[in-house]
Amino acid sequence: MEHSIEGNFPSSNENVENINGDDRKDNKTNNEAGNEIDKEMIDSVVKEYSSIPPGEYQIMIDIETDIKNNLFEDFGKYISDETKALINRNRKLLVVSEEDFETFAQEWLPKSPEYNADDLESTNTTGSYFSIGDLVVIKDMKAKAEDIWKNSFREFVDKYPQIDEKIAVTMIQYSLIISTLTHEFIHSVQVPEWLKEKNITDIADKDIKKFIQFRALAECGACYITNKLLKDRYSKIILGRDGHKTERETFAYLLNKYGENAYYVFFNTKPDNMDDESFNNLKADLLNEFNSELLVDIRIIKKGKESVFDQLPD
Ligand SMILES: [Zn+2]
Repeated sequence: MEHSIEGNFPSSNENVENINGDDRKDNKTNNEAGNEIDKEMIDSVVKEYSSIPPGEYQIMIDIETDIKNNLFEDFGKYISDETKALINRNRKLLVVSEEDFETFAQEWLPKSPEYNADDLESTNTTGSYFSIGDLVVIKDMKAKAEDIWKNSFREFVDKYPQIDEKIAVTMIQYSLIISTLTHEFIHSVQVPEWLKEKNITDIADKDIKKFIQFRALAECGACYITNKLLKDRYSKIILGRDGHKTERETFAYLLNKYGENAYYVFFNTKPDNMDDESFNNLKADLLNEFNSELLVDIRIIKKGKESVFDQLPD
């Protein structure tokens, strides 16, 4: 399953080249306007694109709330009160159909010029977090669940001999929703405030390397924490759990080396017993674990582009 953080993040594997070069075409939509998306507009977009009836949407909201509560219970110590308050106030969930995901991307895209449509058009993408608009967008997974049911029919029948098709498809659908929503919700919590307010065009050259490394940390941490939450809290879901092995192992390595400080950096929360300077040093050390070789392994940059990354200023 593919996930991505959208909005202010460079959002595809192409982006090392993209953000390093001047070949970014067509920035007609202006960034100031793009950053000021008002709440009413978001509400109307959510209404317009929602692919599910209100009753079902409410179930999704309840799932999201449950995920939030579990995340805050298990990892709340690493999440600042400020972030928690923001999440309770602003976060919006949009559930769209497979087809509308692309249409939505095209409509949302001009408001976020740095964002790459190809990434969302991938059929593997199941959800995205848009920092612009503070929007968690997931596919309703209906088509995907049907596909999985058809393609892995035998496997499911073997595992659950009594199951009927409708129940099986629903189980698959909700497993996908829970795992995607967990992953994207985690992104929505960990994107640091300083990054939310920025477009990539505003990021100084000297920060681009850090920006890419942060994106790598974001993916590894989100995969690791998602997997952990699903195991501990949603043990009954039937799929969507064990992907992204390299990302998970990378974060496990960081936890092993830095202890719980890896969580503090991931959620961008300074531990109480640490001064600003030490925290900044810790962040720098941890981000620098992501060298070009590792970034290729976790598909943040493309193979062959290592030298582009290596030449970025520190
Ligand atoms: Zn992700």
